[in-house]
Amino acid sequence: MKKRSVDIVVSPRVPHFVGDGFRVQNFIPSAYGLDMQAMDPFIMLDYNAPFYFEATDTPRGVDVHPHRGFETVTIAFKGKVAHHDSAGNSGVVEEGGVQWMTAASGVLHKEYHEREFAKNGGIFSMAQLWVNLPAKHKMDPPKYQGYTKEDIPVACPSEGVEVKVIAGSFNGISGPAHTHTPIHLYRIEMDVATSLELSFPSNYNTGIIVVDGIVSINEGDAIEVDHYIRMANDGEAFSVNSKTKVTLLLMSGEPIGEPIAAQGPFVMNTKAEIMQAMRDFYEGKFGHLN
Ligand code: MN
Repeated sequence: MKKRSVDIVVSPRVPHFVGDGFRVQNFIPSAYGLDMQAMDPFIMLDYNAPFYFEATDTPRGVDVHPHRGFETVTIAFKGKVAHHDSAGNSGVVEEGGVQWMTAASGVLHKEYHEREFAKNGGIFSMAQLWVNLPAKHKMDPPKYQGYTKEDIPVACPSEGVEVKVIAGSFNGISGPAHTHTPIHLYRIEMDVATSLELSFPSNYNTGIIVVDGIVSINEGDAIEVDHYIRMANDGEAFSVNSKTKVTLLLMSGEPIGEPIAAQGPFVMNTKAEIMQAMRDFYEGKFGHLN
């Protein structure tokens, strides 16, 4: 059977700051070929490559802001992120941990470097992925899932290869995160000169951030750190080969296939629903958070 090929390799993006705590490269939706529809159900991906933050008594981050219509998924590679929301949920995403925040009908939240981490300063690296919700779940009550490194099962398909299953499954091992549509989200660690076979239904939109190291796909050209790989939808199975020690973040999901109307922190199906979200926000219907 035909291998799934590489569609686009996106070069490292010019970083920008979100608030004063997240120095991110945006891959979805601003990189060529990676708009919200192309990567459906993945509608936003910001990646903070390792960056040194000086010690401070005032934790850096993003102050209170709303979300409606989707989920924010925060994956911490280095450093710690603290979260508080108007649904009363709070938590700290530790190194190797994941926070899966279902905004759905709407929350206010704030995202900061955890206080102790901020106080000491240090290398910080994380990714934030926005996962769209199908229309029938956009107005569900908000929900929060927090997972530590220990909560995330590790599959070892061969020596020197680890697949940490955050959501979905790999080789019969299921991740802890509950999703509303079929999604696989893995953090992958590979020793030098190892190989991993992956397979997803061909219609699943699939992408990989090279968080560390150099890889090739299907024994093709070398792809270096900080690049984003969008796989084509022309097959199921493909191989990843490591040229160095490697860390990857892989996402693969079934497209929702509904219209997308997006403005800032609101992602709905129609313009009218975006207008409604704005009215609800200004009328205080997203709750309160100090
Ligand atoms: Mn947010």
